[in-house]
Amino acid sequence: MSTHTSGIKPNMGIGHIDDTAALTVLRDGFEGTLLTPYDPPYDEARTIFNAMIDRRPAVIAQCETPRDVAAAIRYGREHGLDIAVRGGGHSVAGQAVVDEGLVIDLRRMNRVVVDPEARVATVGGGATMSDLDRACQPHDLVTTGGRVSTTGVGGFTLGGGSGWLDRKYGLACDNLLSVDLVTADGGFVRASEDENPELFWALHGGGGNFGVATSFAFRLHRLPSLTAALMLWDAAEGPRVLRAYRDFLQDAPDEIGGGILFLTAPPEEFVPEHLANRLACLMLVTYAGEEAAGRAATAPMLELGHQGGMISQLPYAEVQCMFDDPPGYRNYWSAEYLASFPDEAVDRFCARADDMVVPSPSQHVLFPQGGVAARTGGDFPLPWRQAPWVVHPFGMWSDPHDDERGIRWARRTRADLEPWSTGAVYLNFIGDEGAGRRLAGYGADHYRRLATVKSAYDPNNVFRFNHNVPPDGAQRLP
Ligand SMILES: Cc1cc2nc3c(=O)[nH]c(=O)nc-3n(C[C@H](O)[C@H](O)[C@H](O)COP(=O)(O)OP(=O)(O)OC[C@H]3O[C@@H](n4cnc5c(N)ncnc54)[C@H](O)[C@@H]3O)c2cc1C
Repeated sequence: MSTHTSGIKPNMGIGHIDDTAALTVLRDGFEGTLLTPYDPPYDEARTIFNAMIDRRPAVIAQCETPRDVAAAIRYGREHGLDIAVRGGGHSVAGQAVVDEGLVIDLRRMNRVVVDPEARVATVGGGATMSDLDRACQPHDLVTTGGRVSTTGVGGFTLGGGSGWLDRKYGLACDNLLSVDLVTADGGFVRASEDENPELFWALHGGGGNFGVATSFAFRLHRLPSLTAALMLWDAAEGPRVLRAYRDFLQDAPDEIGGGILFLTAPPEEFVPEHLANRLACLMLVTYAGEEAAGRAATAPMLELGHQGGMISQLPYAEVQCMFDDPPGYRNYWSAEYLASFPDEAVDRFCARADDMVVPSPSQHVLFPQGGVAARTGGDFPLPWRQAPWVVHPFGMWSDPHDDERGIRWARRTRADLEPWSTGAVYLNFIGDEGAGRRLAGYGADHYRRLATVKSAYDPNNVFRFNHNVPPDGAQRLP
């Protein structure tokens, strides 16, 4: 790939970059593409999933190689630029882009190599879930991924990584074998259980604080197909259906995953006419295995009397893109992790669905946790993983006039469920909700330990556009 910076104009003062000469330094030997506001692809390149975020970086470095990443970091630091790192661009807070700074865009580093014998996938730091799943599928191999195919493997995994398969195979980070990183000084390190183990520990939930991950190696599992059952009800049936779902999950095997949510029912074939485009309750039960066994395991839910639905045995990679949320909407999400989900909590959760922006792609979600994800990895900085339930209001709407309503709904959902909260939170499921929530995301002891790793690998806090753990974070604990 040749270098391209044709659009930059001299002496225009973009951020701290005053002229073409400054970028020439970076251009020399750079294999990717450098974009400034004068290049036609710039606007596409600065656009992320959440349409509320409209930031204008000075330079977007579309990297092809780890060397490009190292050169971009050095360049950004030498020119005093804020540095953001972009994977899939799904962070709701827009941590992937920065005004007047440098964006290290990893999307071209999306190669996935699968070793079917060793059951290992080596994944570029800018790959999406789709890149990973589609490379693994021909070998009937899988690893825990996010619930939509366009999420970046990078931000997802470094934050923990929960998905339909986490009850069976653990979180995405539990399946990490190694991570290759470019550090704040432009150096290259590998982290694994044997090499830099403390850094490896920090990469299990500590996010992008410690460097730019250019490659991940994941353990894979054999799973030729997954069974997915979708069932729909009128929203008024929600309290009855949620109680049954809660009780069903109590003793469900690890193969069972899924979630239950209120949403605007789409006008799809499996949706009865009277529910289409209206607020409805949707249950998804996934089963890691074939349909006959899936039907048997799901029977109590299939017999609840749904008003519409479907059940199908599919390759995992196909299930993974069945629920792809559309980009380009205004987003606000939050989450509350629950120690229990008694009837009163069920009723409060269901009642709050009435405040959603409807019609819209917003989702009022309850995910079950448990299984392998809850039984393993207790030492990692992921204190939310043992909670049996998470409530996840996931707001998406198009009209800015709905901002206030959508944000209020998400916040009130949290407030309603707070009496049952464990106090911990998964940081990938929230935006910037302040220092207290960041601490709740890592846990106080883990936070101190993460700060020590941070001070070893990024003492100047170069990588701070994330759920940040400053190098002196341990001293500044509330
Ligand atoms: C539609 C949708 C569905 C989602 N579903 C799930 C789900 O099912 N399960 C779940 O756990 N989460 C889910 N998420 C949340 C998602 O995991 C987080 O938003 C995550 O941060 C996205 O990572 P990204 O690379 O796409 O985002 P980005 O915005 O590009 O990055 C997020 C953060 O990670 C850092 N980062 C990204 N890649 C790297 C890298 N290679 N090296 C170093 N730092 C990096 C960035 O700097 C930034 O701080 C979903 C998000 C969306 C929008």
